[in-house]
Amino acid sequence: MTATDPIALSQALIRCASVTPTDGGALDLVQRTLEGLGFTCTRLPFAEVDNLYAVYGAQGPNFCFAGHTDVVPPGDVSAWRHPPFEGAVIDGVLHGRGACDMKSGVAAFISAFARLREKNWQPKGQVSFLITGDEEGPSVNGTKKVLGWLKDNRHVLNHALVGEPTGVVEAGDTIKIGRRGSMNVRLTVTGVQGHTAYPQRANNPVPVMAELVAKLAKLELDRGSDHFEPSTLAFATIDTGNSATNVIPAKVTAGFNIRFNDLHTPDSLTAKIREITDEAARQSGCEVALHVDVSGVSFVTQPDAYTALLNDAVIAVRGTPSEFSTGGGTSDARFIKDFCPVVEMGLAGATMHKTDECVPVADVERLTAIYEKVLELYFQRLGRAS
Ligand SMILES: [Zn+2]
Repeated sequence: MTATDPIALSQALIRCASVTPTDGGALDLVQRTLEGLGFTCTRLPFAEVDNLYAVYGAQGPNFCFAGHTDVVPPGDVSAWRHPPFEGAVIDGVLHGRGACDMKSGVAAFISAFARLREKNWQPKGQVSFLITGDEEGPSVNGTKKVLGWLKDNRHVLNHALVGEPTGVVEAGDTIKIGRRGSMNVRLTVTGVQGHTAYPQRANNPVPVMAELVAKLAKLELDRGSDHFEPSTLAFATIDTGNSATNVIPAKVTAGFNIRFNDLHTPDSLTAKIREITDEAARQSGCEVALHVDVSGVSFVTQPDAYTALLNDAVIAVRGTPSEFSTGGGTSDARFIKDFCPVVEMGLAGATMHKTDECVPVADVERLTAIYEKVLELYFQRLGRAS
């Protein structure tokens, strides 16, 4: 298998059953291939997770491709039309877990570099890979720790591109320039338990929670900002755990998730919610407790020369520009943003995490061509200026 063939490389990666945090030989394969291209590779295992940092070149601006080789579990394997770890190509479509999220994205970037090298292209600086085996898991022993290691060892990244499947219809149609933040809040209302026949002797937390839920669910957090849709608040559950019909429960809990834009921080949102819960506690005599769990804060990479060159690379291949988006969930870009400007651009992601995950071979080829152009333009424009 040659490194210039992104399809063969994707198939080989899919055949490594790397359900997070298992590696299944995926990083060995990436390392072998990159070493064959002249990269210096460092394996960075943390706890049960293996990671890889690979760099080509010894000095100058460092353009980093970031991604992951772990995948989510396949679920019921018998429900798949083609086995999830076989990497079958049928009628121009590559099938398997990781086909779009994001083994083929990793393969496309490796092949883009290999194809340029075959034409004797040399980067005027460094090209690096930050590949983790912990993106689909808790994301504790992956990108975050590798970035810490890079910092401790004085490796500087100048710009990063995360190869997550951001495409809506095809590779390159959408570039994610930021992400909303996400936080989960657990509310607990505690009253006084009692007999449903004697409600005056109890302090029922259920109607208090019902009012709180209604109030919070209607809350307008904002009306959107320059690069973001309005923030949202959605309840996921309300529980009393009470199966008796003659008992007023002492306690009700409810849980909701907030996806927030760059107008908020977890602290500002918590303060806003606390105002409402404090008021409910005062009026009802119940105790209202909040437990906040932040998954990621909101960030945006302002459109500049970097996003312009990515867009130009897309135009060169597709003929039409990209949409800049900040929608969707969280990714490892949330850690990289503290080190250098970062955006995400990859394959069409319609089947990610689904049964029968697959990607058209043509889309992998398209992304490889876009990445090739990105590398060329980067070292023509930004590489020199940095
Ligand atoms: Zn992914």
